[in-house]
Amino acid sequence: MQARGGIDLHTHSRISDGTEPPADVVAAAVAAGLSAIALTDHDTTAGWAEARAAAEATGLGLLPGVELSTRLEWRSVHVLGYLIDPEHPALVAETAKIRDARRSRARRIVERIGADYPVAWSDVLAQTSPGSTVGRPHIADALVALGIESDRSAAFAGILHPRQGYVEPHYAPTPQDGVRLIRAAGGVPVLAHPGAAGRDRVLGESVVGELVDAGLFGLELYHRENTPDGRERVAELAARFGLAVTGSSDYHGSGKPNRIGENTTAPDVVARIVAEATGSAPVQPVP
Ligand code: AMP
Ligand code: FE
Ligand code: FE
Ligand code: ZN
Repeated sequence: MQARGGIDLHTHSRISDGTEPPADVVAAAVAAGLSAIALTDHDTTAGWAEARAAAEATGLGLLPGVELSTRLEWRSVHVLGYLIDPEHPALVAETAKIRDARRSRARRIVERIGADYPVAWSDVLAQTSPGSTVGRPHIADALVALGIESDRSAAFAGILHPRQGYVEPHYAPTPQDGVRLIRAAGGVPVLAHPGAAGRDRVLGESVVGELVDAGLFGLELYHRENTPDGRERVAELAARFGLAVTGSSDYHGSGKPNRIGENTTAPDVVARIVAEATGSAPVQPVP
């Protein structure tokens, strides 16, 4: 679905677990010939100002957004929120709570790994930007810098895989509460990569029905982590519940193989997102 002039609704900067500053993510989008992107760092809007300035300077359209970490039982569920009010008190409080929980969880994970491998919390901090959302990717980067793992993907398949016993979950609201919160903050919620491996329970009809009741706008159908079976299921659910479908890269700079613009979202869907949002406005007319 790559298209010149396309719109990629899911990207990360080093404000969370991407590897580039927000301005470089904007530059990468311009170089790829995209017309607009959404910046959706995990649980933070701290990259918005830099991305906005870069978008204004280059003419790229920008939908400021966020990717909210939620959890259903033991399953991690990501909810994209577009054009939220970044100062909405409940959203500010909840994202701060998640980031704090992520940080203390990462410290405990590193302590456990440190019992078996020569890695310390300071090695992980060295891989983060000030104030950024800390996650397993930064622990992976520290393990790579120390020569313990060869790259992020190897670290996720190795030491950071749950079966190794080092990782633990962090506090996160339910996806239903996450969707409600994004709507309360004037944003438009879309379930991220819902057809990825292991998401089948999340995709259960009763849960999707609850998310729709909570205000869900759409499902991220075109995403490289959605499996062929998952895509079929996502498309069926979208049709059944009248949900929009989106496409995006989930670009993380060099932190993941995903190329910016490798999947894009139809302009009419983006126009509906912009029309429904009341929390903030896109930078430059989008689409
Ligand atoms: P966490 O939220 O701290 O458990 O870490 C999960 C994050 O790690 C996700 O948001 C992904 O962006 C990233 N991630 C997951 N698997 C990989 C991988 N194989 N390579 C690079 N990044 C990954
Ligand atoms: Fe990520
Ligand atoms: Fe995600
Ligand atoms: Zn993402």
